[in-house]
Amino acid sequence: MKFGGTSVADVEHLRQVADRVAAAARGGDEVAVVLSAMAGTTNQLIDWTREMSSLHDAREYDAVVSAGEQITIGLLAMALQERGISARSWMGWQLPIRTDGVHGSARIEGIEGAEIIRRMGEGEVAVVAGFQGLSPNSRVTTLGRGGSDTTAVALAAALQADRCDIHTDVDGVYTADPRIVTAARKLDRITYEEMLEMASQGAKVLQTRSVELAMNHRVRVQVLSSFNDTPGTLVVDEDEIVEQAVVSGITYASDEAKITLLQVADRPGVAAAIFGPLADANINVDMIVQSASPDGTSTDMTFTVARGDLPRVEDVLARHRAAIGYQEIISDGDIVKVSVIGVGMRSHAGVAQRMFAALSEKGINIHAISTSEIKISVLIGAEYTELAVRSLHSAYGLDAA
Ligand code: ADP
Ligand code: ASP
Ligand code: MG
Repeated sequence: MKFGGTSVADVEHLRQVADRVAAAARGGDEVAVVLSAMAGTTNQLIDWTREMSSLHDAREYDAVVSAGEQITIGLLAMALQERGISARSWMGWQLPIRTDGVHGSARIEGIEGAEIIRRMGEGEVAVVAGFQGLSPNSRVTTLGRGGSDTTAVALAAALQADRCDIHTDVDGVYTADPRIVTAARKLDRITYEEMLEMASQGAKVLQTRSVELAMNHRVRVQVLSSFNDTPGTLVVDEDEIVEQAVVSGITYASDEAKITLLQVADRPGVAAAIFGPLADANINVDMIVQSASPDGTSTDMTFTVARGDLPRVEDVLARHRAAIGYQEIISDGDIVKVSVIGVGMRSHAGVAQRMFAALSEKGINIHAISTSEIKISVLIGAEYTELAVRSLHSAYGLDAA
């Protein structure tokens, strides 16, 4: 059972979580709980690290930002004990949850579950801190924003759990973010593949890596509410879905930035000259568009990166200016990527055209397009985010009746 930040926002919410966990334990389940920090805590901790030092040591960043989860696990263990349930809190390093050494976005490499499996067998509830692990150098690491989801799925895999229930502030996975599309509908089931695309294209209801792990280890994940008992959304294999819609969901990602290099030489090796140094600097590039060259000598190259990487990208490109040979860099952070996702696209024609038509009808200009087998993404001006997501939601017939 995983509970997110708003579900453990204060002592009162933690008491409600304790009631839910106690009910499951009394019902005969062996339970491991994974918690986030209280809503807002992690943001505050990150702000403090920035205030202290703009170019801080990533190991000390992790020492600070992992702190929020320590508080909630201790408090929940107390609340469970008050309810007569045997419980113990576990920090990432105490299990341990082993990760690689990439501070700030570490990957889980393994979890030693033997001790908590033994204790769970004796009726003790394990209350595990989400978001944190232990590096090969025995330092505390964190798993990236939203990382408690990944802790929960990894733990479920290590414990061979029957299910991994992700409790949050919405009662399931919707056809679009219910906070901006009131007509969004809750999905009873969604395939791992679609959930993976939705997460990586901006639906932050599950961290992308948690879905990757669930898919690889075949963990049965359910997304459901912390606050009521309505059935949630099950993430399942494709063959478990009887009637597959062409499009399952619309997402938006507003944390990207667009960069255009003007007048790059139109010659073999120029893409390698641009993207090689960016890869070496560990910068992920998402969409790439190269314009046609009117005279065969130069073109423009446009691509997107995470907005937070923009200063580093500009720095890398400036340092490699001579090798690349561009005239000017233009960057734009006022953009959003909107995506349409569905496994049904594999077998249906005209899915992309419907997207382009719906956007054109609203006068929304498309800056870049990228597609995969089950997804179409477009880059548009950030001011059109809500209009675009709502229009597409209607255009694909997803609106609730
Ligand atoms: P938690 O703190 O529980 O981890 P998050 O804020 O990380 O919660 O994720 C839940 C939020 O995800 C919801 O409040 C909702 O606004 C957002 N969200 C975005 N897209 C979707 C979607 N397609 N379905 C459900 N929720 C979504
Ligand atoms: N507390 C961490 C965050 O805010 C991890 C999580 O909540 O999943 O990103
Ligand atoms: Mg989350």
